[in-house]
Amino acid sequence: MKSFSISGRALLGDDFVQATLRIADGRISAIQSGIDRAADICVDGWIAPGLIDLQVNGAYGFDFTADSATIPQVAARLPATGVTAFLPTIITSPLDAYPRFLRDVENAAHDARGAQVLGAHLEGPYLSSPRVGAHNPNYLRAPNRAELETWAGSSLVRVATVAPELPGALDLIRELVARGVVASAGHSNASYAQARAGFDAGITWGTHLFSSTPPFAHRAPGLVGALLSSDIPVGLIADGVHVHPATLKMVFRAKGARGITLVTDAMMAMGMSPGRYTLGDRQVIVDATVARLNAETLAGSILQMDAAIRNVIEFTGCSLAEAITMASATPARVLGLANKGRLAENCDADLIVLDNSLRVEKTIARGEMVYERQS
Ligand code: ZN
Repeated sequence: MKSFSISGRALLGDDFVQATLRIADGRISAIQSGIDRAADICVDGWIAPGLIDLQVNGAYGFDFTADSATIPQVAARLPATGVTAFLPTIITSPLDAYPRFLRDVENAAHDARGAQVLGAHLEGPYLSSPRVGAHNPNYLRAPNRAELETWAGSSLVRVATVAPELPGALDLIRELVARGVVASAGHSNASYAQARAGFDAGITWGTHLFSSTPPFAHRAPGLVGALLSSDIPVGLIADGVHVHPATLKMVFRAKGARGITLVTDAMMAMGMSPGRYTLGDRQVIVDATVARLNAETLAGSILQMDAAIRNVIEFTGCSLAEAITMASATPARVLGLANKGRLAENCDADLIVLDNSLRVEKTIARGEMVYERQS
């Protein structure tokens, strides 16, 4: 199906309107207002831009930190959750693990079918030791520009999560930004002033707000307060466990849909049954709702992106258009991708069809039908 048309209620700009989209050669070639009953696909539910997940550790039984050669297997299946593009993520690892991970990401970016591999998210190893979360503390390192070529020596590194308060972190952040990498603050003990210094050095995203940082305190707002009082978008894991629904609502009221990127932070048990799994080289126990390292520490999530959309609507009372924005336009903007995250002429033909209960019916990535729900 190289060229086809799809007609129904489509998210154009900030609203759903009746429209007909023509798709040709992987792009949206034209958009006309109104329904065309003769279109190749007539949609009863909703047509929205494809979802973009900036933090995926693995899924469907595969862990990218342990075996990044499995990225294509996950890319093939993520469209069932509405995801058309994503960043495979490596958690804190020994320095010599990174070149191989980056090679596998490059190969997957060229060859993988299904959801597009946009590049790598390097979460660590320059993180705060008290805020290491489920990462292995033995692999943490002090920020070091001389290591940058080994750690991030690929043009496909899109995001690097760093704790800005560490000695040398500001220099590292400036170097990342100079290379076109999005520097993100996370797994951090930063004070408000240290966080602001990180923003001045070039931080433009906040990794999974609230997780692996000190809790917000009104006299010592820290990284959480610095992010919430800034224009910097924040990642949120909207499973109702990582962040309480009321807190999510508060963040939505403070930041709006353009200030939030929904992420799954999914680990290998996403799409699998409860049981024992791993994240990197750590043992994790997964029940029906969460993945845990131990009683206190969550270890990624088993959230799927389409569920995140439904959850955020339920928790915050936002509109479907706003929820979709948090999972498409905002992450595309964080990455500086003008051709993704929206339905507009000449944009990539990444789109999803949701039914009236907001379940994924069809997913189209770069003009190819990559998922169709079996009725
Ligand atoms: Zn994390």
